[in-house]
Amino acid sequence: MRSPVLTDTAAMTTNERGDVHLSGVSKSFGETVAVKDLDLEVRQGEFVSMLGPSGSGKTTVLRMIAGFEDVTSGTIRIGGDDVTSLPAHKRPVNTVFQDYALFPHMTIAENVAYGLKVRGAGTAERKDAVATALRQVRLDQHANRLPHQLSGGQRQRIALARALILRPRVLLLDEPLGALDKQLREEMQIELKSIQREVGITFIFVTHDQEEALTLSDRVAVFNNGRIEQIGTAREVYEYPQTEFVARFLGLSNIIPGELAGALTGTVQTMSVRPERVRLLAADEAVHPGDITLEGTVAEVVYTGPTTRVVVDAADGLRLLSETQNTHHPSADVDVARGDRVRVAWAVDHATRIP
Ligand code: ATP
Repeated sequence: MRSPVLTDTAAMTTNERGDVHLSGVSKSFGETVAVKDLDLEVRQGEFVSMLGPSGSGKTTVLRMIAGFEDVTSGTIRIGGDDVTSLPAHKRPVNTVFQDYALFPHMTIAENVAYGLKVRGAGTAERKDAVATALRQVRLDQHANRLPHQLSGGQRQRIALARALILRPRVLLLDEPLGALDKQLREEMQIELKSIQREVGITFIFVTHDQEEALTLSDRVAVFNNGRIEQIGTAREVYEYPQTEFVARFLGLSNIIPGELAGALTGTVQTMSVRPERVRLLAADEAVHPGDITLEGTVAEVVYTGPTTRVVVDAADGLRLLSETQNTHHPSADVDVARGDRVRVAWAVDHATRIP
């Protein structure tokens, strides 16, 4: 019996070896090198996010997979087939964009059926496929409405149904939730994840929103300057950043420079420690064995609702951020003010060493 976890590349058949496989892919626009010698392997049914700041090359990679953009060098394989020179419409992929232009005068069902109609599918086939696709995005009650009678989140789900109905092998999503407000966006993230699990299609998702990437993905590829700095599960990239860029880009992080880390731990190597791992100690609180403790002055106190963030200026110009969950009775929340002398501590194994 085959293992459900595809880890052993040598044991895979061609089709299993990465549903989408980029090798040595580069892209230049004149003088600008947008993507540099990039390797990426996405498995069948996997949800991979490409996350990075503006201009880091993620959209260009998506567009090259879709076939909207030629590669300057390298190869792209989908399902084992070399598609590098194949035009977009012949690739087994479909793209959902942020701007989900639906036909305003067509009903939801007609909008969703459109792609199949263009392909020449018969009425009965279209009807079944539309019913299935609308059920998948949980909008089967709204088949006869017009787009303007739906909310932004519902319209985005219709755009998804329209892409899913063509049964692509791979679905590419370019910031599809970008136009939604925060609450709807968070609801849609959960929806999108469960829809993807249900349909089992490989999803490659572009976002510049860290939390979104962590929430949705089986793996996150963190882009910087046309390269992937690190790829791994949400936990891997968040808890074990391999570069300072990844530590800083994925949420807030305290970076302890090598020399200071050496003085604190005996090993001269840059350390990253997340604010939620840095505890603000009460005046008489004892530290645990193995804790690193620093003294400093409170520079700022920020109440965020669920948490309180305290900025502490410690010795040697080091500014630390400590974040405490407000889980106690409100009267027992963090009680410090600017200018107070405080101690902070973190367990030495809660910090990550950056190679
Ligand atoms: P964003 O989040 O802002 O969309 P991104 O990470 O997706 O950014 P890309 O759109 O892939 O980044 O752009 C990567 C680089 O390539 C940028 O420097 C951009 O200016 C450049 N670029 C992208 N498309 C073109 C183009 N058609 N012509 C010239 N330069 C381009």
